[in-house]
Formats: sequence, structure tokens, C-alpha cells
Amino acid sequence: MYVGRFAPSPTGLLHIGSLLTAVASYMDARSHNGQWLVRMEDLDPPREMPGAAAAILSTLEAFELHWDSEVVYQSRRHHLYAAALARLKAQELVYPCFCSRKMVQAEAQGIGVDGIIYGGRCAFLSANMHLSTEKTPAWRLRTSTDITGFVDEIQGSEQQCLGKDIGDFILLRADGFWAYQLAVVVDDAEQGINHVVRGQDLLLSTPRQIYLQQLLGFSQPAYAHLPLLTNTLGQKWSKQTQAPSLDLRQREVLLRQVLTYLGQPPAPEVDSLSDLLSWAVQHWQLSLVSPQTIATT
Ligand code: GLU
Repeated sequence: MYVGRFAPSPTGLLHIGSLLTAVASYMDARSHNGQWLVRMEDLDPPREMPGAAAAILSTLEAFELHWDSEVVYQSRRHHLYAAALARLKAQELVYPCFCSRKMVQAEAQGIGVDGIIYGGRCAFLSANMHLSTEKTPAWRLRTSTDITGFVDEIQGSEQQCLGKDIGDFILLRADGFWAYQLAVVVDDAEQGINHVVRGQDLLLSTPRQIYLQQLLGFSQPAYAHLPLLTNTLGQKWSKQTQAPSLDLRQREVLLRQVLTYLGQPPAPEVDSLSDLLSWAVQHWQLSLVSPQTIATT
């Protein structure tokens, strides 16, 4: 049974780019007679916008993108992330890191594909050493020089050497916030997700997630990373780039626009939004989705 998901972070309202992700993940799940789950990735309260989670859900409902099961909130699942970290500690796959941000920057081993590479000052520490209560550490995962690769259903073959391209990365921050990389892996496994359809900005994160799945003994979902939508300046649509809010009176127009961006055939005239959705599900072909970034106006 296909189980897919849409996992928004409630940092802002849905915009055309996040609608594209919601629609594509919904279409792919429904066209496989699969389940489509919604998970609210609300792990970083300082970045969140009050009311955004509820607004995202009501926008999905307005577009008749109905999800299965109850919405899962990451903010209520700390115990699951703690259990996964405990398993990694027991195997000495992680270590406590007491470095300040400044030290990490000053001692960086270079710039990797997704930011600076940790210099390794704390890497000799044992996961099971006695920790004084004075300073709370962050927890880092030990990476290796093995190649982690996968074949993306849209972007093709991808690989990274985590040790060289990313470096030992954080799973739990010193301020107590769980890193996205750990939470997403634990939740995808716990929810039985076997197909991940999401934005291309997360392509670089996928090898880290696959590596964690391997260490934790989880199975690996299939991945499809959608093309990014950019504004005329070539910037990804987001709150920072002032993505316009979705005009809910124009739902059919917006849905047709998103399906066009996704390379799908034009739908005929329909009587209702739900007829348009069913037609699009019946004719959905992931192979028509282009890997190229799409400039919108
Ligand atoms: N919460 C992430 C975002 O909104 C998506 C995570 C995922 O799909 O894995 O960008």
C-alpha cells in the first residue's frame, strides 16, 4: 500500500510553491490508491507564525485535498526523537558537542554542499561519558566517507559523501530543539511513509536522511523531488521573498496553474473543483514532471 505525505512547516501560509508540493504529493498518492497523510513540522517555535498551522489545514480543505488519518504534530512527538537518539547513543554513533557557533565557524573544515563542515573538536567524546549539568551539549551524528546514493524519481541519480560534503551534523541542538533531519526520518518511518514527494530544496538533505534510516534500521522510502518555483528574480517563493497569498476565490485557476507547472495534460471543462481533482488524479503521470526550476510571474 502506497503511503505518502505532505509535511508543511507552519512558518507562514501556503503559497503557490507549497500548494504545488501539496498537490503533487496528493496526486501521486491518490493515483496509486494510496494514503495521503499530513504532518505539521512545528519543531521550531521561534520561526513559526501563530495561526499558520490551522490556516494551512483550512487552505488544504478549501482545495478539497482531504487527508487520511489524523494530522500529526511534531511538537507532540519529542519522545520518539529522544528514543531514536538513545539508540544512536548506545551504538556510539553520536557524540555530545560543546562548541559555540563561533567556534564551529572558526574551526570549520571548509564549506560543504549545505553549509560549513564541522571541524571535529568534540568528535573524540563518547556518547556515554558523564555529562555535568552545567552545560547542555548539542548532539552530532558521526558521518563516514562512504558514498550515500539514491535514484530520485524526478531528479535522477544523486550521491553524496557525507563525511566530505556535509560533515558530522546536528540531531539535537544545545537549546533543546530537534533537528529536522532526525525528526523527519523518525516520523516517516513511524507513519509507514513509503513515498516522499517534496520540494527540490530538500534534495541535498536526502542522503543524510537515508544514512540515518540505515543506522536506525528503517526502510527507505522512494523519493521524488519536485521542481522549484521561483519568482522573476530567480528566488524560491517563500515568506522571505513575499510569496503572494493564495486567492481562495481562484481555486480552480490555481489548481490548473499548478498542474501545468507539473507538466500534466490540460484538464477539460469541469463542473466542480472535486471533478477537476478526480480528473487530474486519473491522468496523473509523475514521469511528466520536469526536474527544471520553473520561473513564474
Ligand atoms: N517541513 C519541510 C518544509 O516545509 C518539508 C519536509 C519534508 O517534506 O521532508 O520545507
